[in-house]
Amino acid sequence: MKIKEILSAQRTISFEFFPPREADGVAGVIDVVQGLRRFNPDFVSVTYGAGGGTRAFTEEITMRLQRETDLNVMAHLTCVAQSRGEVHGVLERLADAGIENVIALRGDRPQNSASLELGDDEFPHATDLIDHIRHHFDFGIAGACYPEGHTESASMDSDVGYARLKQDLGAEFLITQLFYDNAFYYDLRERAAAAGITVPVIPGILPILSTPQIRRFTSLCGATIPADLDAQLERFADDNRAVREIGIEQAARQAEDLWANGVPGIHFYVLNRTYSVSRILRNLNLPGHNDGA
Ligand SMILES: Cc1cc2nc3c(=O)[nH]c(=O)nc-3n(C[C@H](O)[C@H](O)[C@H](O)COP(=O)(O)OP(=O)(O)OC[C@H]3O[C@@H](n4cnc5c(N)ncnc54)[C@H](O)[C@@H]3O)c2cc1C
Repeated sequence: MKIKEILSAQRTISFEFFPPREADGVAGVIDVVQGLRRFNPDFVSVTYGAGGGTRAFTEEITMRLQRETDLNVMAHLTCVAQSRGEVHGVLERLADAGIENVIALRGDRPQNSASLELGDDEFPHATDLIDHIRHHFDFGIAGACYPEGHTESASMDSDVGYARLKQDLGAEFLITQLFYDNAFYYDLRERAAAAGITVPVIPGILPILSTPQIRRFTSLCGATIPADLDAQLERFADDNRAVREIGIEQAARQAEDLWANGVPGIHFYVLNRTYSVSRILRNLNLPGHNDGA
């Protein structure tokens, strides 16, 4: 089913999983996804390795989830460091497998990429990929957007302007980058509305699991950690169990506030660690997304 149709009927809960580094990890990821089925997600997805190494595993897991479960599966696809023909080929395989939804992304050029320059035959931006998909396929299309602005953006205005272009070219909803202060999301929502964005903007939440990991993630994607949260993370930097509890409390508070403020859905970056997301969803206690525990 197209996710756009689900969003027009109800608010969604969705989960994003991570591909394994090695082929023998594929079955384990499928098990992790199965473990969260009891929360009845409206759709699930698997991050696509723009760097290259894990792309095949993402495709394999996405197709297996489509074939072997009744879950609504959204494929991630990045266009960086791949030719248009290669990207088109992936889209054909996804369509043949019956996948109905794709989140179209640019991705980040791998550090070890032979060329740091845009290739002649690459889609330069997610907007170009969205345009291509709209003209050649019948997928429901999503795009990414950034509550704190994308790291390469000239300004917050230009960033939201490109989010608007994603909508104009065919994106039916947007999912945000992670953030730890809901004020950034509410500000984006206002700026998006002012820029004429009418499609749902689903907030993405990543429950913190470890201090070094979240510092690495946020520095890569340009998100900030509020000072009081950062102080707690610093204090328990050597105690991952304590940090996981801090992460659960933070994400539960964020999710509760977002839901109360009318978000169209919440997308959880699960990172294949189901414990935190399970606790957060039990805390939210949403009809239809409660495992009864
Ligand atoms: C929900 C979500 C899911 C993600 N999934 C993955 C994944 O599966 N795999 C992965 O590798 N990465 C993923 N990412 C990370 C993403 O690939 C990076 O953030 C990347 O740097 C930008 O991707 P984009 O699709 O937003 O690119 P773009 O939309 O192309 O934006 C990149 C930059 O270019 C600007 N821009 C956009 N369009 C144009 C245009 N037409 N002309 C000029 N400038 C433009 C933007 O403002 C921005 O500064 C995800 C991010 C989010 C928020």
